Amino acid sequence: MNRGLLRSVTIVCLCAFGLFLSVATAGPSDSDPAEEPMIGVLLLDGVFSGTITTETGSLLLNWREGRVVLSSPQFFVATEETLKIGDRLFRGSVRIRAQSGPMQIGQRHHEGWVEWIPDRGLGGWKMGERLLLERYLIGVVSKEMSASSFPAAALEAQAIAARTFAYFQYLTSGDSRRYHLYGDTRSQAYGGTARVPQEVIDAVARTRGMVLLTDGQIFESYYHSTCGGKTCSASVGFGIGDVETMQSVSCDGCKDSRFSNWQKVIDPSVIRQALEQICEGKGVQVGQVQKLIPVDRTESGHVPYVRVVHSKGSFEVDTQRLRIALSSSGENLRSAAFEIIPIEDGFLFAGRGWGHGVGMCQVGARGYALRGANRTWILQHYYPGVQIEQLWSSSGSGSSGPPAEIPRGGLR
Ligand SMILES: [Zn+2]
Repeated sequence: MNRGLLRSVTIVCLCAFGLFLSVATAGPSDSDPAEEPMIGVLLLDGVFSGTITTETGSLLLNWREGRVVLSSPQFFVATEETLKIGDRLFRGSVRIRAQSGPMQIGQRHHEGWVEWIPDRGLGGWKMGERLLLERYLIGVVSKEMSASSFPAAALEAQAIAARTFAYFQYLTSGDSRRYHLYGDTRSQAYGGTARVPQEVIDAVARTRGMVLLTDGQIFESYYHSTCGGKTCSASVGFGIGDVETMQSVSCDGCKDSRFSNWQKVIDPSVIRQALEQICEGKGVQVGQVQKLIPVDRTESGHVPYVRVVHSKGSFEVDTQRLRIALSSSGENLRSAAFEIIPIEDGFLFAGRGWGHGVGMCQVGARGYALRGANRTWILQHYYPGVQIEQLWSSSGSGSSGPPAEIPRGGLR
């Protein structure tokens, strides 16, 4: 997590792991509540490369001293010092868009400008997009839920939860920041604003400006894929700020999901590798893993820590850290709600759900919507006591692209 980018006290990953250091609230009155904000989405940072394509025509490249029309495709390489697009080399900010129609970079389809700005502090570049919040949301909802299998009420609930989360980041990171969110699961999945299904565009439009409030305050409205029967309290499960609207609730909307209950066998040598990665630089020698014992268990069944007994001693490890370390070895523990059963060739994890388990269960929202629940019922079920308020209804005053002048560098 780049702490210089987002609020320094929060680490967020909504779907895959959910690492939290803090949950907080912010008053919508901290900013102009009637104005739809322009937000910045960080797509890539550091040193990276990729391809820009458009099927509908040419690419328009724009920088402080000039502009040029390029054919498609174009390759770009961002190094510590320079950015190369095609055969042109840059040291300052650059932006690009299709002359007409959408433009594709990686898996995302963009309608407006994408910019590269040198990062004088960390070296390398930041590639991002700035756009109105409602436009950003269509690119989030279409990545977070499948329009072909999720009913309108679930898409609408997702739009409101995602809008609340994004607006919280905007309020707490400051409206003068260039970027407020990552374009991936560190914040929210985002696929760009082009080629978005009409059902998603309609769901976002029907909920325009609507956010969730707890006691009149915006909060970080976490959500996750599948809870497996009961969501995890934000305060109990992760020992973080007590937000009343994110307590544990039961859910049978996801009971038919294949991720509701799962089993995974992991070889002790893979677990040892993961533990060595976690213990690196801490002076702890990890021997052969003999026992894995859940330490404590929340009422939703989530295990916050695992005690590791190995041939050279024992220690406790944070379950979320273990999940991340295992994923880098290609072993995916879908959630922290599991039993651990020793078997002949390893450890059998018998688990429930997918994701951190806090807030709205997306697959459960689908299940309830299929039974006729509307967006308000779904949101009030997963965020008990929440109020829904429309903060803006008319279009924002900003354009869908970045301002005419983009900074030469030195992002905050
Ligand atoms: Zn569920």
